[in-house]
Amino acid sequence: MSRRYLIAGNWKMNKTAAEAAVLVKGIVDQAGSESAVDVAVCPPFTALDAASRALKGSKVALGAENMYPKASGAYTGEISADMIKEFGCEYVILGHSERREYFKESDAFINEKVKAALASGLKPILCVGETLQQREAGTTIDVVSTQTKGGLDGVSAAEVEKVVIAYEPVWAIGTGKTATPEMAQEVHAQIRAILSSIFGEDGAQKVRILYGGSMKPENADALLAEKDIDGGLIGGAALKADSFVSLVNSAVKAAAK
Ligand code: PEP
Repeated sequence: MSRRYLIAGNWKMNKTAAEAAVLVKGIVDQAGSESAVDVAVCPPFTALDAASRALKGSKVALGAENMYPKASGAYTGEISADMIKEFGCEYVILGHSERREYFKESDAFINEKVKAALASGLKPILCVGETLQQREAGTTIDVVSTQTKGGLDGVSAAEVEKVVIAYEPVWAIGTGKTATPEMAQEVHAQIRAILSSIFGEDGAQKVRILYGGSMKPENADALLAEKDIDGGLIGGAALKADSFVSLVNSAVKAAAK
């Protein structure tokens, strides 16, 4: 089963609309016609319009960093699936560890979002991953299993093909510490086994599992060479066109092997 690599940039709370247009132009100039792998940028809500305009005519997809599960109504400060789709979003990042930590998002709430995103035709990028304390306590697989099963509760085998899982060990996010390719592969294989137990082997083989956590040009080739690593969710290195495009090029090389 050959899964298409996906390199997705998570910009977090960085870049104004004007800055987003510049960054997207830099990415599109160098990688806008890349067709061997999938590429996506996920800017903050306020930069979606500018990013969407700058992406026009390119093959680079747009994603949002979050959404609220309800369609509309009295949810001050929140953004619905239709609102992000209006800008052409194809992906939405859900359950990022920063949202789990700072905004106390639970697996049940993230699951509501995953189902709402799928119902609207968006592809959720569901983030899972353990903290350093959990890794040291030997509970990595339990944590990742609970988050994966919780996030995908009630999702059908047909729908799961649209889901992307991002394994992001919390201790590796923004710290410069990367999981070794072997460490990451071990967890990715376990995630695929969990998917297989829910959706069957066929379903599990169709789901892309990205690695996230200080992925950068220096370590990308080795990570992307692993059997169950189908791309990257990129934070810091997605904020500069050159480093992001270098990661896209690493995925193109990996796809050619
Ligand atoms: C992220 O937050 O999704 C991430 C992977 O960040 P970084 O690449 O900066 O570790």
